[in-house]
Amino acid sequence: MDLVIARPEGLYCPPGDFYIDPWRPVERAVITHGHGDHARGGSAHYLAAAPGEGILRTRLGRDINLQTLAYGESIEHHGVTVSLHPAGHVLGSAQVRLEYRGEVWVASGDYKVEPDGTCEPFEPVRCHTFITESTFGLPIYRWQPQAQIFAGINEWWRQNQQAGRASVLFCYAFGKAQRILHGIDGSIGPILGHGSMEPLHQVYRDAGVYLPETRYAGDVPKGDPLLRQALILAPPSAGGSTWIRRFGDYSDAFASGWMLLRGTRRRRGVDRGFVLSDHADWPGLLWAIEQTGAERVMVTHGSVNILVRHLRELGLDAQAFETEYGEEDDAPAEPAA
Ligand SMILES: [Zn+2]
Ligand SMILES: [Zn+2]
Repeated sequence: MDLVIARPEGLYCPPGDFYIDPWRPVERAVITHGHGDHARGGSAHYLAAAPGEGILRTRLGRDINLQTLAYGESIEHHGVTVSLHPAGHVLGSAQVRLEYRGEVWVASGDYKVEPDGTCEPFEPVRCHTFITESTFGLPIYRWQPQAQIFAGINEWWRQNQQAGRASVLFCYAFGKAQRILHGIDGSIGPILGHGSMEPLHQVYRDAGVYLPETRYAGDVPKGDPLLRQALILAPPSAGGSTWIRRFGDYSDAFASGWMLLRGTRRRRGVDRGFVLSDHADWPGLLWAIEQTGAERVMVTHGSVNILVRHLRELGLDAQAFETEYGEEDDAPAEPAA
């Protein structure tokens, strides 16, 4: 029996009668993490990992009906044992483990295998069937160690300071922005954030994650000499806006796994691209899949067919799984408006 099937509302567990990351409102939703393509409003009951509570309430509303589980803690629902395990993707991100009559399935949600200090590291969970993401499921995707990427960002920031211009770094507001703050050298200069990011920074700080001090960029007057020393984190949607012009002379950069593709950076029209992703790269996906010991692998969003073919060559029972997950959180970049 399949413990998870695809339905128009989302991934569905028939014996448990609940959904995982449904894209339409349902009665019971288990949420892997707070990115927009996984956590949507309107469902009657939510279940999520406890460290993600602040994020979900910030994004879906303070008064959602949310039950939380510590990582590794389990509950039973209609005979299905449900537990949540760290996915290493963003604060509170979880893989969902389902056990029913001796059969174990794990739905990964989005995951990353390199620990980054802003969330619990990915934990492989043994299972019979593993539902994996494949956002970067092509052999060309291989990440550099993150320390190298952060050193590159620090150096770019220092060079801009010496040239007397601001450093504007575009990145997604939830997950990526906090990972960058945690990873860079905060002693280089002042750090300013877009208004959409500050509440999320606060949730991370409340969860005990160290982030250097940030100021709301809107509080710094245009022409203030401080701007020439500052690193400014901004969501991609702020590119080309009047909000950006207040910073005067600036260099801009974009941090995303998609920056590995030169065409993406060109379309973005930014000076620099930093290849930094919160998803597993190709070796990371294969390592994670192997660690689960699963004989059967279902592949969701990303380069599904390439990964499915590769897994079949390895002797696994692999298949594509139709979902409506987009990649709002780490998208291959529309031109900046
Ligand atoms: Zn995500
Ligand atoms: Zn996703």
